[in-house]
Amino acid sequence: MRSRYDVEADELAELLGSEPAFRARQVFDGLHRGLRRPEEMTDLPISLRTTVAELLPAALHAEATSVTDDGETTKFAFRLDDGAAIETVLMGYRDRVTACVSSQAGCAMGCSFCATGQAGYRRQLSVGEIVEQVVEAARAAQPRRLSNIVFMGMGEPMANYDRVLAAVRRINGPLGIGARKITISTVGIVPGILRLAAEPEEVGLAVSLHAANDVTRDKLVPINRRYPLGMLADACEAYVEATHRRLSFEWALIDGVNDRPSDAAQLAAYARPLRAHVNLIPLNPTPGYLVRGTGPARVAEFTQELEAQGITATVRNTRGREIDAACGQLAVKVELKGS
Ligand code: SAH
Ligand code: SF4
Repeated sequence: MRSRYDVEADELAELLGSEPAFRARQVFDGLHRGLRRPEEMTDLPISLRTTVAELLPAALHAEATSVTDDGETTKFAFRLDDGAAIETVLMGYRDRVTACVSSQAGCAMGCSFCATGQAGYRRQLSVGEIVEQVVEAARAAQPRRLSNIVFMGMGEPMANYDRVLAAVRRINGPLGIGARKITISTVGIVPGILRLAAEPEEVGLAVSLHAANDVTRDKLVPINRRYPLGMLADACEAYVEATHRRLSFEWALIDGVNDRPSDAAQLAAYARPLRAHVNLIPLNPTPGYLVRGTGPARVAEFTQELEAQGITATVRNTRGREIDAACGQLAVKVELKGS
């Protein structure tokens, strides 16, 4: 059965066939602009609220919600109808509120240092399962307004391209979050980057680079063997040329693996022609990868080494680490517990 956010406006009208057209619009607006559940749509007759709830069940069932001590980061663990589990993270900042959403249950890319990769792939998420994560995050953010979306949760968005793009369009239109405030993060799936470059929406792109030589990158990010750095750079260039948007590279700093001065020099040489911005994230601990993240002093030096070579870099803090909500830490603990 399709879930609440799996239907587009015209499909909803069809589903509510016997109702006047304005009712379908009211329901669609209530779900999206109002962020309301059917039972909260007090502008509808009670019988219609019940019909909508029955025809369009929720896709996500909250299993657990954890909040950091400072209250600024919340992780939601959701169970899906077939028992799969996903996670969504909400992060409040002074100037924005960002939701980090999942695009797949698990991930097939097998990056060694990533908890989702370590757990393996389960299945694609539907459009509704992606959009509902945004709605749940937006509800939880209130009274603040959810302003930014990053596809940096579980899964590889470019491996679920059509559904991710359909979700982007819904987030963009009915949910009212501009394409410029939405970022898709990819491990470097070249055909996906080229497709994104050709879309009318100016969605932001982050590429998880982590190494700027093929020998190291092959080890950290196995898909590099299929789409090596040369091919990846060409795709990034096509994206930048087509969209005139600034690209960012994600770089998880791993002690002794990709944090030496020679690594900074290779990264600078790779990023410079693309005028890419670099986001540095000290590696977060995960159970299946025993190498440590780079310490603060070396992180600062690495940043300076990049800046000396003309590359702008931001150190991203490890938001939500204490609740396993930080980058790369999302895994399916609830699934293990529940099965
Ligand atoms: N599959 C996509 C998006 C989800 S991962 C991608 O790989 O880009 C989101 C980000 O978290 C990526 O940049 C990924 O490389 C990074 N990441 C994964 N494991 C991490 C870890 N243990 N510490 C820090 N960042 C990590
Ligand atoms: Fe998948 Fe991204 Fe994790 Fe790699 S880093 S395993 S692509 S979620």
